[in-house]
Amino acid sequence: MSAAPIIEVRGLARRFGPIQALGGIDLTVERGCVYGLLGENGAGKTTLVKHLLGQLRAKRGTVRLFGEDPVSDPAGVLSRTGYLAENQDLPGWMRLDAYLRFLEAFYPTWDRDLAASLCGQFGLDPSRKLGKLSKGQRARAALVGALAFRPDLLILDEPSSGLDPLARRDLLEAVIRSVVSDGRTVFFSSHLLEEVERIAERVAMLQAGRIVLDAPLDEILGDHHRLSLRFEEPQWRAPELPRALHCEGSGQNWTLLVHGDPGAWDALAAQRRAKVTGLRPAGLEEVFLGRARGSRP
Ligand code: ATP
Repeated sequence: MSAAPIIEVRGLARRFGPIQALGGIDLTVERGCVYGLLGENGAGKTTLVKHLLGQLRAKRGTVRLFGEDPVSDPAGVLSRTGYLAENQDLPGWMRLDAYLRFLEAFYPTWDRDLAASLCGQFGLDPSRKLGKLSKGQRARAALVGALAFRPDLLILDEPSSGLDPLARRDLLEAVIRSVVSDGRTVFFSSHLLEEVERIAERVAMLQAGRIVLDAPLDEILGDHHRLSLRFEEPQWRAPELPRALHCEGSGQNWTLLVHGDPGAWDALAAQRRAKVTGLRPAGLEEVFLGRARGSRP
């Protein structure tokens, strides 16, 4: 088996008229990893996923899945890639069992027993028409279709839209863990930070088409802190400190999202005639919001 990363994106840029949807992205996803892509609405997540699936051709930069170009070798790439879209289009006139047989014809590795057991696990009745299923049931049916051929790579674009909170927590987590325990890889995009924090091993943050952070989740969480400062004098503008990504407060009391060595803050605060009144690790949501707000004028 090739040692190439499962996903390798280099310098990928994409414009839609005046909109720069992707501004030169580099990304590597290694085998067996659960990789979470975080981004606000419009950050470029779906545009990136469409390039991974070969639905969009890279105009600038390169995209490789299993070392292959998904546009020039769609069969080679897509036969190994399960995909669940945000609002997956399913043929409403088909019964679930007929739909699964239809998919089976495309995938030599289709596992009928696995499809049946997933339907049971997800509480789906195979004799129901897809058009009669609820939004959440359709999302589960689509997930059966994406998993039953035991893909090497599972790509999920906003996987939890349509799933209720319980399904999100139990089903998605169970599915992802089982995929990964088989040595397979998951790449998923989400704006649900709690979900990403629970599931992902590595996280990339996409902001206005650029990757602003890409690291193992543990590293991101270990490197970011919420720092509270009390200044001797009221500050009329947000205090500027090195390695501060975002700052809020007023008067003498300010709280900053900071990154890097947490040991250095007492000395830095003293230089600005302030005292550290609190320092605690930041959660992923705070990191994300702090970075997103910090980047806005
Ligand atoms: P969301 O979380 O809302 O789904 P996203 O992160 O998936 O957002 P994209 O759908 O990739 O974001 O869109 C990125 C930017 O590119 C947006 O400004 C969007 O309006 C624009 N865009 C995407 N597809 C097209 C298109 N086909 N034509 C024009 N603009 C597009």
